[in-house]
Amino acid sequence: MFLDVDGPLNPFRAPGERRPDGYTTHRLRPRGWEDAPKPLRVWLRPDHGEYLLALPYTLVWATTWEYDANTMIGPVIGLPELPVVELPHWSDATDGLCFKTATLVEYADGRPFAWVDDMITDRDVDWVHRRHPSSALLHRVDPRIGLLDADFRSLEEWPPARLAAALPEDD
Ligand SMILES: [Mg+2]
Repeated sequence: MFLDVDGPLNPFRAPGERRPDGYTTHRLRPRGWEDAPKPLRVWLRPDHGEYLLALPYTLVWATTWEYDANTMIGPVIGLPELPVVELPHWSDATDGLCFKTATLVEYADGRPFAWVDDMITDRDVDWVHRRHPSSALLHRVDPRIGLLDADFRSLEEWPPARLAAALPEDD
């Protein structure tokens, strides 16, 4: 399962710039923010890692945080070090697709996958279903709200058991 940070784990568009209930505030300096006047404010839920690890997926970071997700985000929410998809620059997006879409399909290499992100649009869903030979669940999360129980329930119900059994243990 490809996992984004800003949006699903960090509801950075929460109304009124107020920290949503259950979240803790972190001020971080990922790559590119080292010299910024202020660190980046990030809201995270310490229990999200536990819920994510309970899902029937191999988790993979698919975020502009890239390797910083393993040092700055994972430890806060209780995730172990995860594989990281190296993404193109956001400005490299074409065809109205999210800049991650083509790279994630390539990384999946024909395997079924779920993708949790706030930037998914119908165009991405269409494109993936035309190009990807097996099942894909593109699950959009509202960046004003972040991952909710209902999201975890949908992710738990997918993939069907026979697909879960076919997924590699650790890849
Ligand atoms: Mg995002």
